Amino acid sequence: MEPLLVKLPMPGPLGHVNSYLLSTTEGMVLVDLGYPSEEAWSTLHKTIEREKVVWVAITHHHLDHGGNWRRLKAMGLRPAIMDAELKEIEQFSSPTFGRELSSYFQENGADSSIMEYASSIPERYGSLYQGLEGDTLRDGVKVRIGETDIIPVWTPGHTGGHTCFLARGKLISGDHVLQGITPNVSSRLPDDDPLGNYLRSLEKVVSLSPDFVFPAHGSPYNKLMERAQEIEAHHLERLNEIIRVLKQPSTAFQVSSLISWYRPWDELSQFDRFMAFGETLAHLHRLEREGLVSSRTHNGIRFYFPEADLSHHGRPQWRIITR
Ligand SMILES: [Zn+2]
Repeated sequence: MEPLLVKLPMPGPLGHVNSYLLSTTEGMVLVDLGYPSEEAWSTLHKTIEREKVVWVAITHHHLDHGGNWRRLKAMGLRPAIMDAELKEIEQFSSPTFGRELSSYFQENGADSSIMEYASSIPERYGSLYQGLEGDTLRDGVKVRIGETDIIPVWTPGHTGGHTCFLARGKLISGDHVLQGITPNVSSRLPDDDPLGNYLRSLEKVVSLSPDFVFPAHGSPYNKLMERAQEIEAHHLERLNEIIRVLKQPSTAFQVSSLISWYRPWDELSQFDRFMAFGETLAHLHRLEREGLVSSRTHNGIRFYFPEADLSHHGRPQWRIITR
């Protein structure tokens, strides 16, 4: 039987987020809890009131997926969360994280508006997840509910502990593989490689060959391989674009203002710029690991530059991007 889609309203351009209910011989399994608004909660509550929900999990810690955990807790349900995601929630909630992120972003040339947003993260996460009690999931370690095996699949990239759930050949994919949009993949630490993790996680879900995908935004679909290839091509094009614009030593902030986003850089909101900047860093880290760009700090500011004169070689050949 297919998971039941519960469409929950949320603010912003996406307009909605999907929760899924999966029936088992024991009762219902709920994946993702919606944005913490009265409107979303009343829709979700109406649905789960009619069902016997016995197990709850979240794909990742973003507000539109885990936001209602306290309301579920009041009903006696605690969400199961991947160990790596619990670790990231702890990291983001730590009072020192805002300072660390600000100084990392400052070194990469971020402007005051991006720095301001970065420094507010611990407060946002601290207030959202304070007192969180969640059961810990581990990659590939199945959870048996009634006669149904649910396999949590660790798919880092969009967040450090993002998790898809495989049950009866269906993949509940959270934000990992969406149609029409690509999830934001952002760097949060000076030596991380979220894009490499993300691309490896794409290969991982494709290798599971689910017969249907149930994403957190948009409608369920069955062409996972094609969609994964499109998303990979999108990131490869962005990597190539960065190499094209990196004609002289530039900061990550300068690079992010030069590459193409869904609207011109000057028209992006504070939040969008914060996300775009993090995404640029993620791509620069990948290029650095591929040996195609290098970086060096000068007076406390990090500059990226092409490693070799790539113009002689034409477009880089991206064959083994995720090694
Ligand atoms: Zn998300």
